[in-house]
Amino acid sequence: MTAEPTVTAATPAPGADYAATASAAYRSALQVIESVEPRVAAATRKELADQRDSLKLIASENYASPAVLLTMGTWFSDKYAEGTVGHRFYAACQNVDTVESLAAEHARELFGAPYAYAQPHSGIDANLVAYWAILATRVEAPGLAELGAKHVNDLSEQDWETLRGKLGNQRLMGMSLDTGGHLTHGFRPNISGKMFHQRSYGTDPETGLLDYAAIAAAAREFKPLVLVAGYSAYPRRVNFAKMREIADEVGATLMVDMAHFAGLVAGKVFTGEEDPVPYAHVTTTTTHKSLRGPRGGLVLATKEYSDAVDKGCPMVLGGPLSHVMAAKAVALAEARQPEFQSYAQAVADNAKALADGFLKRGGRLVTGGTDNHLVLLDVTSFGLTGRQAESALLDAGIVTNRNAIPADPNGAWYTSGIRLGTPALTTRGFGADEFDRVAELVVEVLTNTQPTAASSGPSKAKYTLADGTAERVHAGAAEMLAANPLYPGLTL
Ligand code: PLP
Repeated sequence: MTAEPTVTAATPAPGADYAATASAAYRSALQVIESVEPRVAAATRKELADQRDSLKLIASENYASPAVLLTMGTWFSDKYAEGTVGHRFYAACQNVDTVESLAAEHARELFGAPYAYAQPHSGIDANLVAYWAILATRVEAPGLAELGAKHVNDLSEQDWETLRGKLGNQRLMGMSLDTGGHLTHGFRPNISGKMFHQRSYGTDPETGLLDYAAIAAAAREFKPLVLVAGYSAYPRRVNFAKMREIADEVGATLMVDMAHFAGLVAGKVFTGEEDPVPYAHVTTTTTHKSLRGPRGGLVLATKEYSDAVDKGCPMVLGGPLSHVMAAKAVALAEARQPEFQSYAQAVADNAKALADGFLKRGGRLVTGGTDNHLVLLDVTSFGLTGRQAESALLDAGIVTNRNAIPADPNGAWYTSGIRLGTPALTTRGFGADEFDRVAELVVEVLTNTQPTAASSGPSKAKYTLADGTAERVHAGAAEMLAANPLYPGLTL
């Protein structure tokens, strides 16, 4: 049985005329590109064809609307605008002011935030702006006051060294990488782990769920300046009221990184204590994942932190990507439409259907299921590493990414899990029945994949896929992909 598509397309005003107009725009653009570097035009065409022909299940990816994509290809790219709205270090920024103000206004309205900053180029930049805004507010400003100075440039060399020492000697607590946290939450390979003393909280080893009492106990002992909530690979919701309670008790600033689930917040699937914005002092996000906008970042803040966040440039950033800020304004305007709420609900419903599809076929899921947009499948029950599973699935046209599971015996490179998310295929119109079929196809690939030994011992990367599997699965996916076209009506 084929389900009714839940949501049809990632366009604010779908229809034949819209598709025809977008097609004409892209055809002209590709002709212009072709006249300079035909190989780039060819790769651009091929990227659309590849995305149209595969089951995109990467939990952090989506398909932005043609309106969002087209907004990025303009002369705003050519403009420098260091500074902030109305206070730039460059001349002639009046139109950048307009689009940056619009992006911030839509973000404030959509998320109910007192303040929004649209300049970060990415999620990592948004987190850096947030960390330094917290350090500026909680360490630098009181340090300056203590020394009777107004500005860091007024300090003697010695006082500046003392203050720099304090800035670099603060503590941060976030979710561990193997239970779903992100590298920017204080891990050594990332600058956040070099800036802060870091301690992780994990999940309950039995249930895989966050244990707020354990987090509170760890926070009481460690006394972080910054408590980070948010994740890249945790398949459950978070109670932000409880996280704020913990932060308040130990005097920490609560920073929530909602990069993955911002679309579910925008779409009012996460409300009340599951909505981070009323509870966090500072909230960061990417704009390109479940929020379905351009590749970029965003910071929301309470009044207490807004002045420091507003100084993201020059603190952490240089010239903003004005063309991307314009596209953020368009995407956030789309997310304020009622259709986006239906989309977000479908993303969550479809994740449940995908999880149920795995469970009924014997799949093992971290936490036993999902109540957000992603599932984490433990592939050790198929005798595979995450790396083998990811590669075999890709051979069959299913795009996922390998991911560590809690206490992963295969480490962060080979891993024991694959992470699958529903935002992208839900944008194409996939519903619960299609996601059940997706689970069936994934299981078919994994049960037909055998790990193979490398010449020098066991390999965590090599595998063989039984003959005919890739073709069968491709054919099964092709039917669903054809019934739910990506950018319907768009022809190059
Ligand atoms: N924060 C979280 C929770 C993420 O999952 C990611 C990306 O995967 C980021 C931050 C970084 O985003 P970006 O790749 O845009 O820098």
